[in-house]
Amino acid sequence: MNTGSMSHTGTDPCPCGLPSPYLTCCARWHEGPRHLQAPDAQALMRSRYSAFVLARHDYLLATWYLSTRPAVIDPDPPGLRWLGLEIKSHHLLDDDHATVEFVARHKQGGRAQRLHELSRFERLAGIWLYVDGQLR
Ligand SMILES: [Zn+2]
Repeated sequence: MNTGSMSHTGTDPCPCGLPSPYLTCCARWHEGPRHLQAPDAQALMRSRYSAFVLARHDYLLATWYLSTRPAVIDPDPPGLRWLGLEIKSHHLLDDDHATVEFVARHKQGGRAQRLHELSRFERLAGIWLYVDGQLR
């Protein structure tokens, strides 16, 4: 029987760390009528982290600046588990340029690791894109 309720995965907290369910958080930008419409660089960063967790490589490539975009994204090595995202800062430089500093944690082979990066974002034709990042 169809009760109209959302799926279990859709109502789980979003991988990006916000308390909202995935369906009303990053899923809005991953697909559907608001595909690629993350309203700012921080929302885009969160949605890209969720895309890494969910292996949505189509979304990662679609939100990557053309000149810095890799041809393909390698799948995560077996046993890698994403643990969480922490946004440290979000600076709007002008209407179409922003930086986001974040720490993403993952675990592999029993070892916890952290990626600390200052990322640059640019908005092209209304769509926020990841340009590149500097490790901290
Ligand atoms: Zn989210």
